[in-house]
Amino acid sequence: MDFSQPFDVVIIGGGNAALCAAITAARAGCRVIVLEGAPEFYRGGNTRHTRNLRLAHGGTAPTMTGPYAQDEFLDDLYRVTGGQTDKVLAELTIARSSELLPWMGEQGVRFQPPLGGTLSLGKTNAFFLGGGRGMLNSLYRRAQALGVVCLYDTPVTGLTIDNGLFMSANIRHEGRAQSVRGRALVAASGGFEANIDWLKQYWGEAADNFLIRGTPYNKGDVLRMLLDAGVGAVGDPTQCHAVAIDARAPKFDGGIATRLDSVVFGIMVNRDAQRFYDEGEETWPKRYAIWGRLVARQPGQIAYSIIDAKSIRLFMPSIFPAIAAGSIGELAGKLTLDPAALTKTVEEFNAAVRPGTFDHTVLDDCRTEGLAVPKSHWARKLDTPPYYGYPLRPGITFTYLGTRVNDESRMVLKDGAPSANMFAAGEIMAGNVLGKGYLAGIGMTIGAVFGRIAGEGAAKHVHN
Ligand SMILES: Cc1cc2nc3c(=O)[nH]c(=O)nc-3n(C[C@H](O)[C@H](O)[C@H](O)COP(=O)(O)OP(=O)(O)OC[C@H]3O[C@@H](n4cnc5c(N)ncnc54)[C@H](O)[C@@H]3O)c2cc1C
Repeated sequence: MDFSQPFDVVIIGGGNAALCAAITAARAGCRVIVLEGAPEFYRGGNTRHTRNLRLAHGGTAPTMTGPYAQDEFLDDLYRVTGGQTDKVLAELTIARSSELLPWMGEQGVRFQPPLGGTLSLGKTNAFFLGGGRGMLNSLYRRAQALGVVCLYDTPVTGLTIDNGLFMSANIRHEGRAQSVRGRALVAASGGFEANIDWLKQYWGEAADNFLIRGTPYNKGDVLRMLLDAGVGAVGDPTQCHAVAIDARAPKFDGGIATRLDSVVFGIMVNRDAQRFYDEGEETWPKRYAIWGRLVARQPGQIAYSIIDAKSIRLFMPSIFPAIAAGSIGELAGKLTLDPAALTKTVEEFNAAVRPGTFDHTVLDDCRTEGLAVPKSHWARKLDTPPYYGYPLRPGITFTYLGTRVNDESRMVLKDGAPSANMFAAGEIMAGNVLGKGYLAGIGMTIGAVFGRIAGEGAAKHVHN
């Protein structure tokens, strides 16, 4: 590999945002290099784990139900963020999301009709045929056909930036330190969710017990380099997308198969066998993303979902089997909980359940009365053996701290001036749009929309 000549566009990262930028810049005639820190098999960071992306559309695509109007998408975004979003960038995300179905199709990405299941997203989200990995393979094939140079196992270890102007990236490639020069930079290297020490700055020792749902390669090195070099920061560093996942999942890369959707059907207890939050507060799609933080605040960052035989077939199973027992006391023993304490919690819960008509598809009238921690819907007595338990831990999906960008996806420096040649796309700048909260599928929307905008901006800069 010859690094003596500068590239037009240097792209850091190898996921959705990076590839959308690379394809766009290459189609505009630029000489592009993609620097992916992970080995080829693990290329594509968290994008590998995805299933879908959210987009506004008119309802004519055969793979979607709909329509999903831009206004409705915008309302949904404002609701989940509580207004904590850059309105210009939020509107831009949504306006340009409507181009994604045809654009991705042109690059070879295929979609499938949505599967049924807990999240019911057929109207709002397009599902990739072959999942995120299938989608990535199509984007890589397209990028390589356009002449994009893709280097794997090539982490960026340093950046030379002069007064907000990108000059070169230091990389490690085939065991040697090298420098890659470029006329423009697109940083698409994800968040810092795989950097436990960085997470500890906000969560303390509890972060040792977090499981990271995606790639171990998103350590935030490039984000740190950019912030240190004078790029403005955006987003609350304590904010992240975190769900409760099976505690038996691996430390990294467990992906979607370790998520557990059993919570609303029973009770959740901590390691003292005490309930700590209303399991039936709202429908699962609106609440699943709060349980990671709730479990993170419990002692030892562990909790247990307890259900009985009535519910075992009502949710999408996790990859790990439930732990089963003939009695609550026996189940407690298997979960290493105090049998007497769990039996008492279940008895109190059962005594508080009021009669109602159970319907898990609506906010039904099955609730408890008189408990300090109520269960507002889907409260049914745990009385039908076998009883089942799942251990859960916080599963971190991605962090929100990022680089500030403008509507050209151009990084904005600490003094408010836009950088002449540095762009950012994807998770590394998602905090501009997601001040807090999350809307299923918008991670990939932000990556694709701003990846394309960054690619356009970088190419324009090169041609000027
Ligand atoms: C289990 C799971 C399921 C998800 N499902 C969905 C879904 O269905 N829909 C959705 O919209 N979102 C989903 N998300 C979120 C989604 O994955 C992200 O929003 C999206 O993939 C971000 O894309 P990206 O290109 O910005 O980052 P990534 O795809 O994470 O890519 C970042 C890249 O940067 C590379 N990198 C990091 N540091 C360096 C360095 N120093 N040098 C070189 N390269 C580096 C990494 O190796 C990686 O390739 C899911 C996430 C997880 C973990």
